[in-house]
Amino acid sequence: MNTNVFLENLKDVPLIFEAELSLYTTYRVGGVAEVLALPESEEQIKHLIDFTKKNKTPFRVLGLGSNILVSDLGLPGVTCCLRNFKNIKIDGNTVNASAGTALDEVVRQSINAGLAGLENLSGIPGSVGGAVFMNAGAFKAETFDKLISFTTITPKGEIKEFKKEDVKYEYRKVWGIDGCVILSATWILDKQDKEILKTRREEILQSRAAKQPLEYPSAGSVFKRPVGAYASKLIDECGLRGLSVGGAQVSTKHAGFIINYQNATAQDIYNLIKEVQKIVKEKTGFTLEPEQIFWGKFK
Ligand SMILES: Cc1cc2nc3c(=O)[nH]c(=O)nc-3n(C[C@H](O)[C@H](O)[C@H](O)COP(=O)(O)OP(=O)(O)OC[C@H]3O[C@@H](n4cnc5c(N)ncnc54)[C@H](O)[C@@H]3O)c2cc1C
Repeated sequence: MNTNVFLENLKDVPLIFEAELSLYTTYRVGGVAEVLALPESEEQIKHLIDFTKKNKTPFRVLGLGSNILVSDLGLPGVTCCLRNFKNIKIDGNTVNASAGTALDEVVRQSINAGLAGLENLSGIPGSVGGAVFMNAGAFKAETFDKLISFTTITPKGEIKEFKKEDVKYEYRKVWGIDGCVILSATWILDKQDKEILKTRREEILQSRAAKQPLEYPSAGSVFKRPVGAYASKLIDECGLRGLSVGGAQVSTKHAGFIINYQNATAQDIYNLIKEVQKIVKEKTGFTLEPEQIFWGKFK
């Protein structure tokens, strides 16, 4: 679509044309977005949804890009990044945060308010929207544990609140919200001594730094945990630590991570994911299902 059509119709929304998506994803790879929208309000998000729907323009919502592999060939239409749509409200035991807020900031502020229940999620580098979308979790805790509700804009453009009890969710999967844009989430937490919570947070951050290759770009664990096994253990047992395709490498520090070791392309990472799946299937019989989301075209 012509740039002027976007400019004329979306003049209230911050837009970047031909935006380098490697700057908006933690793998630091990927081509350009035809249009990257960076809305700061619910009205702007709604406007984008209405405009793209009316014009049959592709529309995608991006959080902090920490669970996505974007094709080197880029993305048509509007990529709507919520990183500037952020706010945290703490009222008594209730914590509410807008979708673009960094989950880790919600954790940090909850702890400072002496509220327990999110501390095990310390260090997950995604947004609130991304965490709700896939029920992100770590250290035996999940986003949904203490969540009570979240608000969305449905594909029809209506605002809808989902109560936790009305939603089916499990490990890294939430049903019934496809096509919805998550706007905010609310948790009810428990009062606890903040020094105890701060110590727990420190332990978790240290454990992450010790085990994960945080010094390289990645998107965290590539594969979901298969029933009855651990993906990283299977990959390790197959001797795949350090396996490389182009500039992508199975981390030697944590076999569940693929890192952008040396100027990898998205296609390098994609090919390495396929190679790992193939070898693990052949050698162990387990099928590794990616936790990460692929956007755009891959060969
Ligand atoms: C170093 C590292 C460590 C990690 N550790 C963990 C971990 O311990 N546990 C864990 O679960 N994950 C982990 N991850 C993965 C990632 O941080 C989480 O999956 C996170 O929840 C993704 O959030 P995001 O905002 O980055 O989502 P994105 O990557 O931007 O998007 C992921 C998906 O969520 C959708 N989405 C994002 N925002 C919205 C919204 N507002 N409304 C609707 N859909 C939306 C997108 O459309 C996309 O389909 C790690 C990643 C890295 C890089």
